Amino acid sequence: MNLDLLTVDSARTAVLEKETTATALVDGFYKKIEAEDGAIGAYLTLSKDRAYRQAARIDALADKGDDLPPLAGVPVAIKDVFTTKDVRTTAGSKILADFVAPYDATVVSRLEDAGAIILGKTNCDEFAMGSSNENSAFHPVRNPHDRSRVPGGSSGGSAAAIAAGTAVASLGSDTGGSIRQPAAFCGVVGLMPTYGRVSRYGLIAFASSLDHPGPFGKSVKDAAMMLQAIAGRDPLDSTTADVPVPNYREQIGQPVTGMKVGVPLEYFEEGIDLEVSTAVQFGIQELRNAGAEIVPISLPHTPYAIPTYYVIATAEASSNLARYDGVRYGLRAGDGKTLSEMYRRTRDAGFGAEVKRRIMLGTYVLSAGYYDAYYLKAQRVRSLLARDFDEAFAKVDVIITPTTPTPAFRLGEKADDPLAMYLADIFTVTADLAGIPGISIPCGKSKDGLPIGMQILGKHFDEATVLRFAHVAEHALAGKL
Ligand code: GLN
Repeated sequence: MNLDLLTVDSARTAVLEKETTATALVDGFYKKIEAEDGAIGAYLTLSKDRAYRQAARIDALADKGDDLPPLAGVPVAIKDVFTTKDVRTTAGSKILADFVAPYDATVVSRLEDAGAIILGKTNCDEFAMGSSNENSAFHPVRNPHDRSRVPGGSSGGSAAAIAAGTAVASLGSDTGGSIRQPAAFCGVVGLMPTYGRVSRYGLIAFASSLDHPGPFGKSVKDAAMMLQAIAGRDPLDSTTADVPVPNYREQIGQPVTGMKVGVPLEYFEEGIDLEVSTAVQFGIQELRNAGAEIVPISLPHTPYAIPTYYVIATAEASSNLARYDGVRYGLRAGDGKTLSEMYRRTRDAGFGAEVKRRIMLGTYVLSAGYYDAYYLKAQRVRSLLARDFDEAFAKVDVIITPTTPTPAFRLGEKADDPLAMYLADIFTVTADLAGIPGISIPCGKSKDGLPIGMQILGKHFDEATVLRFAHVAEHALAGKL
């Protein structure tokens, strides 16, 4: 069986129809990971005991001839920011290098309830802060399309594992673009659901009002099936919404005739790589050919999105990360003479440079005297950015933009220039600030063979329409990439 060709559906069908067993699939994927992941670095921890236990459960169901749950036997990978009982969870940080959580994140238990098999935990930027995966305290991830380049971040391991064929599907988290941007760089599909659609219980917090858990897959259908398993109200996360979860699979194959695509002109102007804008325009053209109407729109507050995001995200991070103090979780560096000395030593040794930079920035914008000038002002601009989307969505069904201004950059290229790194998030942060759903799908390749991503954004809780458009575009582009 060619593991590279497996999809969510075909993995389940192969187990259901006894062409293979879940245990044999797990064996096959671990062999592949052991042979190939050294060159990519997508995994931080393999959860073999857990994977084989789940595989045995699925095989027993198949032996009984029972119908299998929707993700039965599907080998998946989990970004290492979601807690997993009895399997270490590091958030890519030294401060949690040996941390084993006593409970599972809701998304993890939902995937297992749906029959998925968790192969392991994937590498990421420390506490999900980054756009290149170079901020992992352990090792960087390399882009499977060109190993001298980054896979994107912060969910770089989860995207690279799909592109390298070392998992069929995976989970990531998107706070400012961390699902969509690595999906674009690695040539896979990455879906950020609406804020409140998927539980954050057990997600190690970066910026609580912006963190969105979501899936990666090889296809739009795979991403839809993963979303189906994890979406919906969770009594353990009071910010999840009690909005009915539709059958996403039914959207796959529905036409978009007569529906409207908004294209924000300012997203195709300054600073964007010509190959990227050409490929995205080509994808838009395919949707026009499929019967959609293209409507020029404007999102006028976009130029303020990056500073707004980096004020709000760092403010929330500085508060969330206060819990790592050498007492409650993970690392304690020496005892120190006083309690505050112990805190200082632990945080100094445990956090990397980017995390420290953000704690300082966040503490500053929240401090007395600066709170109104920075934090409060950023919250006001956030409302304006959300209003831009509300006004646009009064006229169109979805909005299409490039996912990133350039294809994957080289390892080290932006590592010493945090501002250049932050600017790479220009097309993704706006949707996080507004809390709307978005997907990145492959829409072409640069002349160097690097994947290019097209972003489709939708209305709150309307992942269904996003998936419908994404599937039509994917289908139309098939064979042309
Ligand atoms: N690149 C952005 C940042 O560094 C987004 C990260 C994310 O979405 N987790 O904050």
